[in-house]
Amino acid sequence: MLEKTVAELSAGLAAGEFSSEELTRFYLDRVERLNPELNAYVTVTAERALADARAADARLAAGEAGPLTGIPLAHKDIFCTQGIRTACGSKMLDNFIAPYESTVSQRLMDAGMVLLGKTNMDEFAMGSSNETSYYGPVRNPWDVERVPGGSSGGSAAAVAARIAPVATGTDTGGSIRQPASFCGVTGIKPTYGRVSRWGMIAFASSLDQAGIFSRTAEDAALLLAAMSGFDPKDSTSVDQAVPDYRAELDGPLEGLRIGIVREHLESEGLDGEVAGAVRAAIAEFEKLGATTREISLPNNHLSVPAYYVVAPAECSSNLSRFDGVRFGYRCEDPKDLEDLYKRSRGEGFGAEVKRRILVGTYALSAGYYDAYYKKAQQIRALIREDFRAAFQEVDVIMGPTAPSSAFRIGEKTDDPVSMYLSDIYTIAVNLAGLPGLSIPCGHSAGLPVGLQVVGDYFAEGRLLNVAHRFQQATDWHKAAPGAIA
Ligand code: GLN
Repeated sequence: MLEKTVAELSAGLAAGEFSSEELTRFYLDRVERLNPELNAYVTVTAERALADARAADARLAAGEAGPLTGIPLAHKDIFCTQGIRTACGSKMLDNFIAPYESTVSQRLMDAGMVLLGKTNMDEFAMGSSNETSYYGPVRNPWDVERVPGGSSGGSAAAVAARIAPVATGTDTGGSIRQPASFCGVTGIKPTYGRVSRWGMIAFASSLDQAGIFSRTAEDAALLLAAMSGFDPKDSTSVDQAVPDYRAELDGPLEGLRIGIVREHLESEGLDGEVAGAVRAAIAEFEKLGATTREISLPNNHLSVPAYYVVAPAECSSNLSRFDGVRFGYRCEDPKDLEDLYKRSRGEGFGAEVKRRILVGTYALSAGYYDAYYKKAQQIRALIREDFRAAFQEVDVIMGPTAPSSAFRIGEKTDDPVSMYLSDIYTIAVNLAGLPGLSIPCGHSAGLPVGLQVVGDYFAEGRLLNVAHRFQQATDWHKAAPGAIA
């Protein structure tokens, strides 16, 4: 069962080769053995998983199963799960049990999936290494002295270590694609609005989007189809039919026009082996019939500075609800209301979250709004326009997902700017609201390297098709970290 993809597990369940309960026990046993070292899960829901599995087996026996019925999964601990703690990597929510279910987790539950548990993450999804979590860092299964990337590092590590066949994540500036790259798995962030954000704890609402970590593009297609689509509870979710992503997977790549961003491959700070692996992957696409051309995204260098105004501004507003009154952490023995606010927030939030709230509140304050927030929104419009122009000429854009492979735990914690730059290739995609994915495309010093593929709005089907054809022609996605047996 270890090396089977979701699609293969689904076939095995349908053929009666094993039951969902057997499959779930197999995964729970691996979680128990491997999680203490990796710290990928913060909550393991073993009893719930077994109950879900028995219900799935009943559906399978009754002939009422869909393709995901009985398949175990893990959710990033940012999705509210009714009756199960949702801590979002923060002391602030360490005691929070949501009274309702997020749309994403609800839809996957309705599809018959089995919940193994909730995965570790950077506090409130702020980070690129999973080191800002209140629950301690996640370790990269390829090298436990290294980070898994962030903020969805627990989900990425869980799929890489085969302690979950598939997992959800969220991506505000790269938090699905960058950890997918560092852990050698497939990760897709859909178009903004494709997946409902309802019940997903908000970081930066105009950028946040839910997606999937899996071992193959085919598996991502299965999950994405089940979780996408209009939701009246999220006013930014788009009322547009969800295509059958799986049916598009085998489409030919002849004539596919690939844009290669000049500014990316020439950027300072790009590791030579990462660049080499990406070039080799693009050459593979040429063999499959694609053509390449250089394109320019002239405002890409402004994406990180613009993001670090927009995202903190939105987070300062979103996180104002954590005041020690309604839910979450409350300080001991407050003297008065002001003391209650100050100490609950002072004690409940970690350093990175506080840094963002301070920056964001400053950027939104009267007198500075025009200089920072408005300027950042103008840059955002320029970045969107760069992509619009590029997609007149090409079908997809390819390049490295991140400038390096996984770095060491502690290597960048004292240097927030160098940490922020690990999202230099992913952030513009969120500012524009476009879909993007990362697939394993090589190794650098024994660690996985990711290829980022970006498409036009609602081109998820095309992206998955491109990734699937690559995975049929190469074996990078099959490589597993050594120490996981
Ligand atoms: N690393 C970026 C940040 O710290 C992106 C995080 C994310 O996508 N959630 O904000």
